[in-house]
Amino acid sequence: MTVITTFSSIMFIFKQTKDLKKILEQLRSKHKKTGFVPTMGALHEGHISLIDKAKKENDLVVCSIFVNPKQFNDANDFKLYPKTPEKDILLLTKAGCDVLFMPEVEEIYPPGLKMDEQYDLGYLETVLEGKYRPGHFQGVCRVMNRLLQIVLPEQLYLGQKDYQQCLIIERLLYLTGIKVKIVICPTLRESEGLAMSSRNRRLSEEEKKNARAIFEALTFIRNQMKPGRVDRILSDAGKILIENGLIADYVEIACAEDLQTLKIWNGHTPIVALIAAFMGNVRLIDNMIIRP
Ligand code: AMP
Repeated sequence: MTVITTFSSIMFIFKQTKDLKKILEQLRSKHKKTGFVPTMGALHEGHISLIDKAKKENDLVVCSIFVNPKQFNDANDFKLYPKTPEKDILLLTKAGCDVLFMPEVEEIYPPGLKMDEQYDLGYLETVLEGKYRPGHFQGVCRVMNRLLQIVLPEQLYLGQKDYQQCLIIERLLYLTGIKVKIVICPTLRESEGLAMSSRNRRLSEEEKKNARAIFEALTFIRNQMKPGRVDRILSDAGKILIENGLIADYVEIACAEDLQTLKIWNGHTPIVALIAAFMGNVRLIDNMIIRP
């Protein structure tokens, strides 16, 4: 265990599951409510906004940093995933995070632990991210199930930025019976609208400027949306991406509740516009909820 202190706060850092569990047991007797913020590190203000919210709503805040190999369907994406552990520790300490869990792969997937379970994620796994990243959500469920069993939080903080992931984790809770309240937090953006993401670090300044077009395309969809066919709006939004050098995996409108993709909008159902697009070899995702 490592203890990091700043002028105002103290944070415990654990690499071993057994040590973390032991201290959480002790702390839990004093602190009633634990909020958990799972991350893959290379932290930015978006992540810290989740810590801030968790801090306001809980007695104890636990963050994890673990780049989960099982949710990367592209080996290169995994290899190139940014890692900034020292900076992350500083940001979390300043934000007042109480406990940081930074396990190695063997801690999360120890040899001998049965981890080949397939989660029945149904339709949700067949569309959007599920379609373009086969196996991704099985990997997300595996790590989330394991982390939740270790941390045993009352509240789980997730970003709307990963909209489909939020629904997948809701489904995971239903399938496993794990009792935790999900709190979905709004997407933090750069001043020009680009959603903050650890992957943005892999973009040049020029690419970052052009990647703003994802937010422009989402805003375009929201402003143009009216009852009726959506294909024209989506193809015009796609053009905004192409003009800015982005190659889209998808530009879709879906029912906000279950992510059924829509060709026609009835004007009543809350919907969400979702985009995944490559800028060079960096894959970016974003979304915008559209209320009638
Ligand atoms: P990641 O480290 O990318 O796995 O993200 C960890 C958590 O932070 C997830 O719940 C994300 O949805 C959330 N998150 C990522 N980017 C943002 C952002 N720009 N604003 C708010 N939350 C975010």
